[in-house]
Amino acid sequence: MKNNVHSLFSYGTLQLERVQFENYGRLLTGQKDSLKNYKLDKLKITDKDVLKKSGKEYHPIAIKTNSPNDFIDGTVFEITEAELTETDKYEVGDYKRVLETLNSGNQAWVYVAKQEKPCSTIAENISKIKNRIEIACKRSGRKPKEIKLLLATKTVDCKRIEEAFQCGETLIAENKVQEVKHKYDDLKAFSFEQHYIGHLQTNKVKEILKYNISCIQTIDRIGLVEKLHNQLTLENRTIDVLIQVNTSNEESKFGIMPNEALGFVKQVSEFKTLKIKGLMTIGVFSSDFDKVRACFRLLKSIQQQITDAQITDLEMNELSMGMSGDLEIAIEEGATMIRVGTAIFGQRQYPDSYYWNENDKNE
Ligand SMILES: *Cc1c(COP(=O)(O)O)cnc(C)c1O
Repeated sequence: MKNNVHSLFSYGTLQLERVQFENYGRLLTGQKDSLKNYKLDKLKITDKDVLKKSGKEYHPIAIKTNSPNDFIDGTVFEITEAELTETDKYEVGDYKRVLETLNSGNQAWVYVAKQEKPCSTIAENISKIKNRIEIACKRSGRKPKEIKLLLATKTVDCKRIEEAFQCGETLIAENKVQEVKHKYDDLKAFSFEQHYIGHLQTNKVKEILKYNISCIQTIDRIGLVEKLHNQLTLENRTIDVLIQVNTSNEESKFGIMPNEALGFVKQVSEFKTLKIKGLMTIGVFSSDFDKVRACFRLLKSIQQQITDAQITDLEMNELSMGMSGDLEIAIEEGATMIRVGTAIFGQRQYPDSYYWNENDKNE
């Protein structure tokens, strides 16, 4: 950088001649360029002076995403040291000035968001969920770090899943093998863990094992166990599993019946390619919280029953239960993992029955 002359990349109001006049008393000359690994978001301006100068309530703000697909177009201006100091005053508290390399290869100052996390609703929603976890933990004498947050990402497109990754989340799950497959390429550059939480048809076993699924949470019948074991044996590997229990006794839901759970777990534990880690359930859909609580309490008691049976080579620590609407109750009843979709990503277009009422229920 030349003495006293600075390059400044602007993607916002500084490109307006009026703002240039107001700030520097002259027009700037600039060149088009772009900034990679960032995306634009909106910042609501409350500073009266800034509002008056720009005439805009919302200013664009650059947020670092580190995603090679994101970029922001703008203009590079040459300004003096004194003008840079002026600009520092104009750019309000939510921005920080950093030196970045632009698409052209040139370096320039750029004002970007102070916090690196996107200030999107997904980030806000995740922090709300963290709050709910914390409050539920306080109420039940537990620690938030005992509770894993799994994001149920069915119907959520990869861009929005990436946003959740940028918030530091690393555990996601899908319900349909097709969807796992479709998202695989777009997500494979990220490091995350993926579980499978949908009903698994035996004819999809080979397919699901092609993707990076670390745990299948929906083991509920011996036919499925055998199929998985045969394929895993061929591939010379193991996989973590949870046993799905039907604690709500609803026809529409999958899962082993509570009174058969112990026997089933004993059976599954004979298959050495399946590493049992615990239990999973979907609570009853009801506004009657006592009924919901009864489901979770039942799962906890089944866990205890299995633990008491002291089956060798078996872990029973994980209790995957609780969703957007009932996670507090699940935490109070001993959940170690909650599965949250709607409260983070918004309403889905399909009813849940689309995922849970498959025709092959009796398979
Ligand atoms: C979709 C889904 C969830 C998340 O449900 P939300 O109500 O959207 O939080 C949890 N578990 C399973 C098995 C799901 O299919």
